[in-house]
Amino acid sequence: GKHLHWFRKDLRLADNPALSRAAKGDVLPVYLFDPSELAAMGAASKVWLFHSLHALNQSLDGQLRLLSGPSQTALPEFVAQNEITTVTWTRRYDPAGIEMDQALKATLQGNGVEVHSLNGSLLWEPWDAKKPDGTPYRVFTPFYKRGCQAAAPPRAPLPAPKLDLVKKPHDDLALLDQLLPDRDWHVDMMDGWNPGEAGARIALEAFIDGPLDGYKSDRDVPAANATSRLSPHLHFGEISPNQIWHAIAKQPTTHDTAHFKSELAWREFSYHLLYRHPDLDHKNLNDKFDAFPWRDDDAALQRWQRGQTGIPIVDAGMRELWQTGYMHNRVRMIVASFLIKNLLIHWREGLAWFHDTLVDADPANNAASWQWVAGSGADAAPYFRIFNPVTQARKFDAEATYITTYVPELAALPVKHRHAPWEAPAEIRKALQGYPEPLVDLKDSRARALAAFSSLP
Ligand code: FAD
Repeated sequence: GKHLHWFRKDLRLADNPALSRAAKGDVLPVYLFDPSELAAMGAASKVWLFHSLHALNQSLDGQLRLLSGPSQTALPEFVAQNEITTVTWTRRYDPAGIEMDQALKATLQGNGVEVHSLNGSLLWEPWDAKKPDGTPYRVFTPFYKRGCQAAAPPRAPLPAPKLDLVKKPHDDLALLDQLLPDRDWHVDMMDGWNPGEAGARIALEAFIDGPLDGYKSDRDVPAANATSRLSPHLHFGEISPNQIWHAIAKQPTTHDTAHFKSELAWREFSYHLLYRHPDLDHKNLNDKFDAFPWRDDDAALQRWQRGQTGIPIVDAGMRELWQTGYMHNRVRMIVASFLIKNLLIHWREGLAWFHDTLVDADPANNAASWQWVAGSGADAAPYFRIFNPVTQARKFDAEATYITTYVPELAALPVKHRHAPWEAPAEIRKALQGYPEPLVDLKDSRARALAAFSSLP
């Protein structure tokens, strides 16, 4: 019979269990542009998707079919018109995705179509890890050490299936163009990225041959390029966590390989939280924070977004984000802490900006991480542990290499003044052209945050 595989965030052929299931028949590979999903997608994600779908189409000999319309009606219509007997897809775990998939499955099955939805994006199903008393974990370490590691080991990756593709009647690739914005900020943003399954594999191999050795210590140094940069590839499913996990497991076991696997497990933990708390992206996990006295300050928010706060490490991070669609993990923590604590702006504002501008913007990782930094989540860094961005910068970017890459204005100062230019003597500061004074005093704003926190019931 004719089988339709509905590609969503599993834009790869290898280790795609649902696609392998579809390959038992003649395959129609489909990607559907659902207007409500497109509207919810960030601008940087759309650009990545544009390139990733082109790459996928190539590996499908140009046979990827693009459809447009609400999934709920457009997919069943296409299935009926094309006499499709079986539909396959990779499971989603975000609340909107779960809801849509359940409804669609019921409709298709009601029409006599077989549906197979399989896990192709997580090492463990998010409902698998449970405490002995049956309740979900809220803290990472026991989740990973007891919940996950006690479960079956991640399944071995599958090879790419041999596909008998049903030829498509006409070329529909023009639909992809709606993913690109009018302004061409994204051309430079995509420099250095290689979206698609082949690009993901190259990134994994490069990581294993290079930065994996030393990962545990260097992963915190933003100038070191010591991480895998697999996050957008993982988000779009151009590579599966199983493929990564098993490739790492083939290497001699070291504290670096163990630490890298635990970072993959943080991604699992985020999905576990999102699955258990579908409103993770807008509701405090800890409802004590519902009474937090956040400030409305559009001008400050805008200076944060544009990398004009006058705090060099914060500005470097925000400019890296704008220029590359990515930000180093340590710096994500620093800029998030600055927004939430030194500016007292709601973490949802930060989440929204990251959602729009990150190429790896992910409903689970983004929400779980913002709540984690805010201290409003599970397993939180306590709110009162407030990063000092200058201390952080001196520790993790001692030579200010990262700072000057993204804030070139600071190259006019001697290195020792680049972390906190306002502390430099006036004579030296004269060289600083156009770089703003700090938006807030770090000490005063820290005290203000602690006062706000202690006002909570
Ligand atoms: P590596 O260090 O090479 O790690 C490998 C993989 O493990 C990553 O690709 C990622 O999938 C996973 N991982 C690593 N660190 C974390 C973590 N702390 N939490 C969850 N998974 C992790 N990550 C996203 O994928 N999407 C987001 O939208 C996102 N938003 C974030 C927002 C904030 C405020 C913070 C502090 C972190 C956020 N992260 C997010 C987590 C982390 O910063 C990125 O996953 C990581 O920087 C990606 O770079 P990498 O692939 O080189 O990571």
